Amino acid sequence: MSEQGPLRVAVVGSGPAGFYATSHLLGAELAIEVDLIDRLPTPWGLVRLGVAPDHPKIKAVSRAFEKIASREGFRFLGNVDVGKDLTSTELEALYDAVVYCVGAQTDRRLGIPGEDLPGSWAATEFVAWYNGHPDYQHLSFDLTGERAVVIGNGNVAIDVARMLALTADELGPTDTTGEAIEAIVGSGIQEILMLGRRGPVQGAFTPTEVQELGELADADVIVDPSDLDLDAASEAELADAPGTTKRNIDLLREFSTRTPAGSSRAIRLQFFASPVAIIGTERVEGIEIVHNELVVGDDGRMRAVPTDERETVPCGIVFRSVGYLGVPISGVPFDDGRATFRNEQGRVCDDAGAPRNGTYCAGWIKRGPTGVIGTNKKDATETAEALLDDARSGRLADGPSGKTASEVDAFLAERSIEAVSYRGWEAIDAVERERGEAEGRPRVKLATWDELLEAARDAAGAR
Ligand code: NAP
Repeated sequence: MSEQGPLRVAVVGSGPAGFYATSHLLGAELAIEVDLIDRLPTPWGLVRLGVAPDHPKIKAVSRAFEKIASREGFRFLGNVDVGKDLTSTELEALYDAVVYCVGAQTDRRLGIPGEDLPGSWAATEFVAWYNGHPDYQHLSFDLTGERAVVIGNGNVAIDVARMLALTADELGPTDTTGEAIEAIVGSGIQEILMLGRRGPVQGAFTPTEVQELGELADADVIVDPSDLDLDAASEAELADAPGTTKRNIDLLREFSTRTPAGSSRAIRLQFFASPVAIIGTERVEGIEIVHNELVVGDDGRMRAVPTDERETVPCGIVFRSVGYLGVPISGVPFDDGRATFRNEQGRVCDDAGAPRNGTYCAGWIKRGPTGVIGTNKKDATETAEALLDDARSGRLADGPSGKTASEVDAFLAERSIEAVSYRGWEAIDAVERERGEAEGRPRVKLATWDELLEAARDAAGAR
């Protein structure tokens, strides 16, 4: 730790893991300053740009982040892209320690023919678009077809299926972009088909999200009762499963007894079905599906094994929602198999497994894309504790090397990097809330880089 001043830490990525890591560091007995760096001019990561807009209670965790941002020693440096504007090596030379909380920036691929046809989208692209992510506003989703297919049985798949089924009244009070509301409300979609390769017991979704499918204003939820006739192995799995899985099954059983009310849209959950190919000449016209049976794998996990039964289902658009993937940053050791930074309890390690002093990670880039927002608190605390332990016992690289805040500013200015301060973000926030108030909505997001940077510039200079 520095004799001249506080320990200077960069936390890269201002989503939940980044904020929780920051919080733990700023709460320690050591004198610490944290620069929370983000590629975007706005903080909160997936809380702003991933969580579904009709889930305001989940988004409200941002209030806790605002409190963290008000602590002594906190700075936000938005619009700074580590790996592009400056290398990881340059960053690590500017600070005593760096904590990477950069999430999982891309989507897992299916590896099937037709995956790249126009009309076949990563669910994450759609999510970023309807949430106003400035990198995704140029996308145009053709929702004119009668059927949309969502591949996957996780909470992102449910979010996408539900968002596609919301009415103007349901979307109105949310911060979904105006363009997305217009496209969803005016869409020709009558059926949203959600495909799970395994059975209902193996669904990755959680009960609150399942329940919401049954509570939509103008969409029926359809489940084939025969999918709930569980085989012996699934019954056994269910018996040992957590309460959340049992609740999922109760909800799905109840859905399977419903008679469709003739709503404008239906969400159909089809289990034991894997996509084999996405079909079309110029664009998506359908999807070929194989029916699966479940077998117990060597690891004791139920595996989907294809049968000979195949069908082709016509559809106009496909959303692939089969999980996220971490992306490497040059210079930081990466575990290709797990698609995470190579680490031991948050300490980034070299290929031989030795900790690289002063470099840490937390959140999805540490453990993979699992868990809910709160999961990141424990995860980031573990990482921050590792950093604090290293600081207390003098294990940070070569003692203090961190530059002061103004030296960091000078470095960024030299590179012509226009960092957005927390004041800058507050200015963006104020504009968005004001625009929202006029429309009876929580906020109307600024969704282009120009708009965001211009609003932030009004508050330039102050941090
Ligand atoms: P996820 O929970 O890992 O679900 C991925 C789904 O894709 C699983 O059903 C998986 O099936 C399926 N899948 C994987 N490969 C496939 C393939 N080749 N063919 C067909 N299906 C395949 O991922 P996610 O939905 O992206 O969510 C990421 C994390 O964010 C999760 O922890 C989730 O709970 C969280 N999240 C939470 C909320 C919320 O709390 N409201 C909202 C959104 C996301 P198998 O099980 O068979 O592998």
